[in-house]
Amino acid sequence: MPNIIIPKELSTQEKLILMNDDALYEVGVDSEAENTALLCAADIKSRPAPPKIPKMFLSSACIFNCAYCGCRCSREERHNYCYTPSELAKLAVDEAIKNKNGVFVTSAIYKNADYTQELLAESVRIMREAYSYQGFIHAKVMPGADPLLIERTGKYANRLSVNIEVAQSSGYERIAKQKNKTNILTPMGNIAEQILSAKYDRRKFAASQTTQLMAGSTNEDDRVIMTLSNALYKKYRLKRVYYTAFQYRHEAKGYEAEDLQLTKTPYWRMARLYQADRLIQLYGFSPDDVTPQAEPNLYEDIDPKAAWALRHMDMYPVEVNKADFDTLIRIPGIGITYAKRIIEARRHCTITHDLLKKMRISLKRSIYFILCNGQYQGGNIMLSPELRSVLSSGHDELSINDSLTADEPNAGN
Ligand code: SF4
Repeated sequence: MPNIIIPKELSTQEKLILMNDDALYEVGVDSEAENTALLCAADIKSRPAPPKIPKMFLSSACIFNCAYCGCRCSREERHNYCYTPSELAKLAVDEAIKNKNGVFVTSAIYKNADYTQELLAESVRIMREAYSYQGFIHAKVMPGADPLLIERTGKYANRLSVNIEVAQSSGYERIAKQKNKTNILTPMGNIAEQILSAKYDRRKFAASQTTQLMAGSTNEDDRVIMTLSNALYKKYRLKRVYYTAFQYRHEAKGYEAEDLQLTKTPYWRMARLYQADRLIQLYGFSPDDVTPQAEPNLYEDIDPKAAWALRHMDMYPVEVNKADFDTLIRIPGIGITYAKRIIEARRHCTITHDLLKKMRISLKRSIYFILCNGQYQGGNIMLSPELRSVLSSGHDELSINDSLTADEPNAGN
C-alpha cells in the first residue's frame, strides 16, 4: 500500500504552505517557455500565451507512483495534505479573485480516481453556488474518471483537462506505471463528446479541454511529439496542448529496472515545440513540414519556420507583389499581421523595400527571401551557410533560463 501521510492536526494554513510548495513547480512553466518562444520569433505569433493562473491542489497524496512527480506514493519523506471541498473552494475563490484571471483546481489521486473526481466536482460546485464565483475555472480530470463525475465537474468548470503525459504509449510503463492509454484517452474522448453534446442540448458544460505532453520522457524525437499533438488537436478538438520538459531529478522507487537517467530536457526544446505547434495550428504547416522524416528534431539555433525556409530555398525569393497569403506567412520575418498589411497595401500601390520599411515591416530576416517589384536586396548570402547564422538570432534568449524548476515538479495530473 502506498505510504500516504495525512497528519490530521494540519490547519488549513499549514496545508496551504505545503500546497504552495507543490504549485510553485508547475505554474507558469508552460507559459514561460511559450512566452520565450514568442519573444524569439516575432513572426510566429498571433495568439497570446494564456495568463498564468494559480494552481490549487485538493490533495498531494497520490496512489500512483509516476517517476517524475513529487507527489508519487513512493516518496516517503513528504508530508501530504488533503483539503475538504469546502476548504479548497474557499481558498480557490480567494486566489481567483486576487489573480483576476481565474484558477486551476487539481489534485493528486487521493484514494482512487473517482473519489478524487467527486471531491473536485464538489469543490467547483461550492465555488459557483456558495461563493457565487463567476470567473474562469480550469478543473483537472483524473485518469480513468467516471463519465458522470466528469459531467458533474464540467457543469461548473470552464475548462477541463486530462494529461496525456507521454508521447508514446510505451512511456507509461517507463515513467508512469499506473497510467495507460485507456485511462487517459477515454476521459479525453468523453470530455470532447460532452463539450459537443452540451452545446447541442444547451446544457452547462466546460467549453474547452487541454492536455499536457512531456517532451523527453521516452527519448522520442520532435516528429513523434508533433504528429501526436496534431492528432490530439484533431481527434479531441483540444483548445491547446501544453509542452513541458521531462524532469527526472531523483531516483524513484519502483523504477530501478528502467534505464532512466537523472536528466532534464533542455528548455529551448519547449520553446521550439510551442513555435512548431503554432505553425501547425495557425499557419497551415503540417507535422511533416516542421519535422520531416529526414530531420525529425527541431533545432536549437533556428526556429522551425526559418528551418523550413532553408529546406525550401528553391521557392525563394518570392515576389511580395504577387505572393498569396499562405506563401507570405511562410517567409521568415513575415507573420500573419505583416502578411495582412502587405496584401492590403497591394490594393493601392506597388510594394517596394522602402515602402515595407515605411509600413514598419522588419526586413531583418525577410530581406533574404523576397523580391519587391523585381528587386532583390539580400546580398549574396542566400545560398551560403551564412544565412543560417543570420536567421539564428534569438538563440541566446532561448538559452537564458535553462532550469525552471528547483526540485521535482509535481504534475498533479
Ligand atoms: S503525476 Fe499525477 S498521478 Fe502521477 S504521481 Fe503525480 S499526482 Fe499522482
